[in-house]
This record gives sequence, C-alpha cells and structure tokens, in this order.
Amino acid sequence: MNAFFNIDKKLEALDEKANYELKDIFSEIDATTKHNQLKVLSAFIKNGVSEAHFNASTGYGYGDRGRETLEQVFADCMQAEDSIFRHSFASGTHAITVALFGILRPNDTMLCLTGRPYDTLIGVLGIGHPSDGSLADFGINYDEVNLTNDGTPDFESIQAKLLSKFYKVAYIQRSRGYTLRPSLSINKIKKLVNLVKSISPETVVIVDNCYGEFVEREEPTSVGADLIVGSLIKNPGGGIAPTGGYIAGRKKYVQQCANRLTAPGVGREVGATLGLNRELFMGLFNAPHVTGEALKTAVYTAYLFEHLGFEVTPRPFESRTDIIQTVVLKDPGALVAFCQGMQKGAPVDSFVVPEPWEMPGYDCPVIMAAGAFTLGASIELSADAPLREPYAAWMQGGLNFHSASMGVLLAVQSMLEKGFIKL
Ligand SMILES: *Cc1c(COP(=O)(O)O)cnc(C)c1O
Repeated sequence: MNAFFNIDKKLEALDEKANYELKDIFSEIDATTKHNQLKVLSAFIKNGVSEAHFNASTGYGYGDRGRETLEQVFADCMQAEDSIFRHSFASGTHAITVALFGILRPNDTMLCLTGRPYDTLIGVLGIGHPSDGSLADFGINYDEVNLTNDGTPDFESIQAKLLSKFYKVAYIQRSRGYTLRPSLSINKIKKLVNLVKSISPETVVIVDNCYGEFVEREEPTSVGADLIVGSLIKNPGGGIAPTGGYIAGRKKYVQQCANRLTAPGVGREVGATLGLNRELFMGLFNAPHVTGEALKTAVYTAYLFEHLGFEVTPRPFESRTDIIQTVVLKDPGALVAFCQGMQKGAPVDSFVVPEPWEMPGYDCPVIMAAGAFTLGASIELSADAPLREPYAAWMQGGLNFHSASMGVLLAVQSMLEKGFIKL
C-alpha cells in the first residue's frame, strides 16, 4: 500500500484486520450480488437484448425498440409488470414528482408512513414553505405518521389513520435520507404493504427506493408495492448511466406516470434516446456488482470507525437494505477532515479541497466529498455532511471496493493527522 499512498503503519494494520474480520460478511454480500446478477442476466436473455437496441433515436423517438426493451428488462429485474427507465428524468426527485403527480388528483390525500420525507420532496409536497406548482398548489393534501422513538414505522398509528379515511397514496421511504433512523428492510416494507392493502386495497403504495436497489434479493415490487421510484445515478445506473431515473410497478399506474412525464395520450411512446441506450443497458447490467462493491465499502467504513470509537449506523455486522453508512463524528472539524481526506482518494478532482458552504435547500452549511466521473453520482464514493448536531457524515458508494476502501482510509488518515483520532 505504501508504494502509492502514505498511510500510518497502525492504520495499515487496521485495514488488514478489517479485511480479515469482514471475510464472512463480504462473502454474504457476494452471494446476494450473484443472485441479483443472475436475475439481471436472465432478464437480458429473456428479452433478447441485441446490438440493434443500442441504436440512437432522435426527434419523437417513436418505436425506439431499445428503449422499449430496456424498460421491460428493468421491469423484470424488479419483478414489476412495467417500467419507465429513462435519461429524461432529471433526477430521483423528478421521478418521484412524476409518480406523485401521475397518481394523485385534486382533493386526494397522500399519507407518508415513514415520517417526514427526504429534504428535496418538501417543496414538491408544498409543506412548510408554499411552493409554486407543488402538490398542495393543486389541491392535493398531505398527511404523515411520525416514526416511533427508535426510528421505525408506527404500525398502530398507521392503522388508525388508514381506518379514519381513504388515502389515495401511501408513501414509504426505504432509505434513511439525512436522518439517523434505520432504513426499511424489504421485510418491513412487506408488512407495511400488507397493512395498507388489508385495510384499503385501493390505496396505491409508492416506495421511494433510492439507494435500495439490488441490496437485498427482493425489491418492494416483489412484496406488493404498486410503484417504486429511484435515480439512475445511484444503484441501478451501475455507475455508467450518465443521468436519469425510473418508475416501475403495476402497468396501469406506470401508464399514468408516463402520461404525466410526457403528455396524456402520448405517454411512453415518445422520448428520443439520443444514443444513451447502450450506457443504460450496460449500467443496469453492472448494477448488482457495483451495488455489492458499495455495500462492502459501507461495511468496511462501519468497521473502521466503530473500531476507532465512533458511533456508526448501521453497525458493521448489521443486515442492510441500502448502501448508506452514517458515521457520527461529533465535531465539525472532524467532519471537515473526514471529507477532505476522502476527496484525496478520488479518481477525479483529488486535488480539490472541499469546504462547507450554504447549499440551496439546506438550513445549515454542508460539506461534500465527491470526486466522481458523473457529477453528483452517489453510487460513486461520496460523503455529505451537514454542519450541525450530531456532526455526522453520510457516506455511500464506491465503484470498486479496492479504490473506495482507500478513499475511506485516507479520510481516517486525514483525521489522524489533524488530531481527531488517536491510534
Ligand atoms: C437521492 C434520494 C432522493 C432523490 O434525490 P435526487 O438527488 O433528486 O436524485 C430521494 N429520496 C432519497 C431517500 C434519496 O436518497
């Protein structure tokens, strides 16, 4: 290791110990990767993916066989009836917005089962600050059930709400976002779906699946969710998709979303692919493997930092349902050192020194480490840290474990050099 990077000898020993102690959990991750990889491969074969599907369409993009095949392949990977899987979603938030506006109508009410949703959705819902064009602006009502004190769904209160009136949409966020709550396993999501459907079969269950794809062997759509939504610069783009998002699930609901994405009556039949089909196919093909590498990186990070005396969630040997790792560093200086060290190990922009800044949409300065091939791609090794209590870093991604674990080690080295860690 010292041939290329300057790492403290004791830290090198810790790296070796980590790799040794994590052998079993790494082979469990490999087994899941293999399962999901074969699921994806068989979907490619079943749908007869061929070189002709990589051809570019322009203009309206009518009859783009590559686009249509790709969307069926993805649907099969998610055990869904149908999907929209496209570069024309500008982000995950955009895809979620299309799904909500696709399903909800004026005077409908949606119920979030997992507390306050992810930061960027607040403006979409129109809660807090009124925002132009939000769901609230269109007369769509919002209600939520807080999580319990341990950060898990409050089944009793959810049941009471569902019995009190009809909700058009029940919304579930799988991943933790910028909170310390545990992410929701497929098993928990299954219980939520069953609860909703047993009381209100007509309620559409939509799951924000960001960061969760291919982490477990099943997806929310395998256990009864009506729609799942996510971003292609996270897990399902495999680090290759340059932009995009997806919606997958029941055919009639996917159709409604397609009408919202383009225009009613035109729906999914338009949308030029501009030569991106090949990258989206290739990214999806690589997605289970890349997700596995990101998971190993998260587990490794948890192990190192727990060993160094920090609180981490999830803990190294805990079961996982997404690729997010939180490290509670308890000190703003330590957060900055962590992000600056991680940036030094990035393949792109390693020479940049990240600094905290007042990012739009956040109520405090945020520091980010991201040296990625795709701007903002969080399937690549990256960390975000809002400079507020409890001074925690949310890190995720890693295209390959060997380089990503070096990025993490450099984050520790940086903290060591600045006196935030003693070995
Ligand atoms: C990433 C993410 C989103 C979507 O965010 P974009 O940055 O718009 O892609 C939504 N919900 C969760 C939980 C996420 O992690």
